[in-house]
Amino acid sequence: MSSEAPSGGSLADRVSKPEDSQPAAETSVENAQTDGAVQQQGGSDLQEPEYTVEVKLSDLQADPNNPLFSVKNFEDLGLDPRILQGLSAMNFRKPSKIQERALPLLMGNPPKNLVGQSQSGTGKTAAFVLNVLSRIDLSTEQLQKTPQALILAPTRELARQIVGVIQVMGQFLEGLNIGSAIPADSSSRPTRLEAAVVVGTPGTVQEMIKRRIMVAAKMKVVVLDEADNMLDQQGLGDQCIRVKALLPRDIQVVLFSATFPTHVHQYAAKFAPNANELTLQHDELTVEGIKQLYLDCASEEDKYRTLVQLYGLLTVGSSIIFVKTRASAAEIERRMVAEGHTVASLTGGIEGSQRDQIIDQFRAGQAKVLITTNVLARGIDVSTVSMVINYDIPEIHQQRPGVERQADFQTYLHRIGRTGRFGRVGVSISFVSNREEWNMLNQIQKYFNTDIQRIDTKDWDEVEDIIKKTIKNTRAQGTFGR
Ligand code: ADP
Ligand code: MG
Repeated sequence: MSSEAPSGGSLADRVSKPEDSQPAAETSVENAQTDGAVQQQGGSDLQEPEYTVEVKLSDLQADPNNPLFSVKNFEDLGLDPRILQGLSAMNFRKPSKIQERALPLLMGNPPKNLVGQSQSGTGKTAAFVLNVLSRIDLSTEQLQKTPQALILAPTRELARQIVGVIQVMGQFLEGLNIGSAIPADSSSRPTRLEAAVVVGTPGTVQEMIKRRIMVAAKMKVVVLDEADNMLDQQGLGDQCIRVKALLPRDIQVVLFSATFPTHVHQYAAKFAPNANELTLQHDELTVEGIKQLYLDCASEEDKYRTLVQLYGLLTVGSSIIFVKTRASAAEIERRMVAEGHTVASLTGGIEGSQRDQIIDQFRAGQAKVLITTNVLARGIDVSTVSMVINYDIPEIHQQRPGVERQADFQTYLHRIGRTGRFGRVGVSISFVSNREEWNMLNQIQKYFNTDIQRIDTKDWDEVEDIIKKTIKNTRAQGTFGR
């Protein structure tokens, strides 16, 4: 990774906000690709941080070892011209590796199932959305109202984000209606979902099909984003299986995630039979642009003091602080606010419409520090996030006392993956306050065959230096993975 700003290059691009004020179609080459913050959600109305430097995504995309690399252009992938227009409005110039590889497999006829794995922030959303937009038929008014594609996501925040991406990518497709199937209060609950594409969480989708709010008979494709999480029996597995039972038998099944742990892989094979597979090894999963650090804390209380110390750095860009429980998220928020800091917290305990407000404020940069639980560990794409804090190391819930505590590798990867998106750089800092947590950190290093560097807190000025230097580089230079 070089600390210099690359010079020259015709495709030099800037990490900047999506231009909310203009129609997306008019965005110029100066603007970076958009993130999940799209216009209708208020967009990312960020003040451009001072440290932004000229960066070249094109350099990253020209490096064969980089997951953003591709041989082809979007034009070579057989996409509808109106979809290509949507992509260029988003400032997507070249596909990433997963997009280039997945799209021909996804769009072939007769349709085949796909299990697609690629690192966090490498553009999996576009890969499945492009297939969905290519497969739906909008040629009659009736068809425009008929659900033909279903995308399932584990949380309302991610479902809303995907809706936003489809809206922008499909903005030139006449008659494209997108339906949301997420929990709503009784006043705003739809009585009929008349849209060609439906995005939702599995429980609500199941209910809407059963109550005939949504027709499922004409569905051609179902996508599970964060598929390993969706199929996990500890999680949403049962619900997804029930939803699938309500869909046509010959539907194309598409599974995407950055992680597919072995125990879930077997469900995946059942859920998406005879699928084409694009997979990665553990040691290919970490993203080079994310600088992984850890920091020793003397006690639980010292974690809090450390976080407060870090506050200035947290607000250089935006940051997400992950804690174990809803209660501790609320408690840290309360204490920090009482001390005069501006922080927000979002957890599953909060009511839906309020969650929407909080995440939208975070996307817009009105709230720059967000305290949360694993509810936001996956999928959330906010390009300004330059720091992720693991206040608590993510951990597998242990059934029996006395058994060694086990780090949750997948969750660790997803959490740190909220930064360093599509070639940007970011920092993750994990807090370690006792031997057991240190053991878990070591498990993580081994599993991903990666180094997590210790930062010495004796000299806070130096800590600041190290971190600022990293996040100033905005885009990673050099190779990713191994
Ligand atoms: P993943 O699901 O793999 O973690 P996302 O689909 O959320 O990643 O994409 C990460 C970011 O990269 C998003 O902000 C998205 O707009 C951007 N992006 C995706 N594909 C491209 C592309 N081909 N060119 C430029 N930016 C892209
Ligand atoms: Mg994703």
